[in-house]
Amino acid sequence: MDLSIVVPLYNEANSLPELNAWITRVVNEAGFSYEIIYVDDGSEDDSWSVICGLRQTDSHIHGIRFRRNYGKSPALHCGFRRVEGEVVITMDADLQDSPDEVQELYRMVQEEGYDLVSGWKKKRYDPLSKTLPTKLFNATARKFSGLKLHDFNCGLKAYRREVVKSIEVYNDMHRYIPYLAKIAGFRHIGEKAVQHQARKYGTTKFGVSRFFNGYLDLITLWFTSRFGKKPMHFFGVLGTIMFLVGFIALVIVLAVKVASILSPEGSLRPLVTNSPFFYISLTGMILGTQLFLTGFIGELIVRNSSGRNTYVIREEL
Ligand code: UDP
Ligand code: MG
Repeated sequence: MDLSIVVPLYNEANSLPELNAWITRVVNEAGFSYEIIYVDDGSEDDSWSVICGLRQTDSHIHGIRFRRNYGKSPALHCGFRRVEGEVVITMDADLQDSPDEVQELYRMVQEEGYDLVSGWKKKRYDPLSKTLPTKLFNATARKFSGLKLHDFNCGLKAYRREVVKSIEVYNDMHRYIPYLAKIAGFRHIGEKAVQHQARKYGTTKFGVSRFFNGYLDLITLWFTSRFGKKPMHFFGVLGTIMFLVGFIALVIVLAVKVASILSPEGSLRPLVTNSPFFYISLTGMILGTQLFLTGFIGELIVRNSSGRNTYVIREEL
């Protein structure tokens, strides 16, 4: 099979017939062998009955229905587990992404050898309240991930099948799929400017909370990908620095004390608690010890949890 199209959706009944007709027309014109997988993320509207209706007349269509709303990432993950096509394309259900891009995305993966091609909504049709924070968000994601992409969170993306089988999209990690792919060892990640349209039916499913959660997820991802298997390398370094600062301050406190004891003017003997270095040494050494202990606990958890040796084999002879 050439192509699998995965569409996560939540309350998009109005868009579905139009979207399905459009996708079907495009892929048939291009002559692909294909499947379309709709993952209904616990919709409360008629989305599921629309999908059932579409399926009745077209066996290319598959539907998966969640018992409740879990989020876009689990929906994508579920679709990814089932895809069979050599190239996998994801797309939002709200008609903001254009199915016309499918053929070119397919070509970029198959002929130009990209592992992942991310859509880039170069000209966006979203309110300013969304486009402005998105710019900031993408700049931060670029810094953390080292990937030169303009639009991490574009719903329209194309993958080599191996990529989606090697990554796990959980929580709200759909925003960072290119970064996940990079962490999994896929290097050839590109982007393509794609057409974007204003939402025609329904409303957006993500509020402002997306920006806060987005940043926290990014930090988590950066931390776990770098130190997830070796927490001591993070906590140990911080702990050592803290402890050293505390220790140096302690030496200063003691040196001053001893010097004052040895000095002839016995009345000029300040209490150690009057020195700022006393407090620096106290906090520094306590924090340093705590950080070390956190590191040890982290290592114990890693050592006792399954999957401490996580690697993906590429080929075998
Ligand atoms: N979506 C989903 N589960 C959710 C929220 C959204 O499957 O819990 C789907 C939604 O139906 C759409 C896509 O994810 O197909 C993108 O959502 P939306 O258009 O609301 O996001 P935006 O375009 O505002 O970033
Ligand atoms: Mg949308």
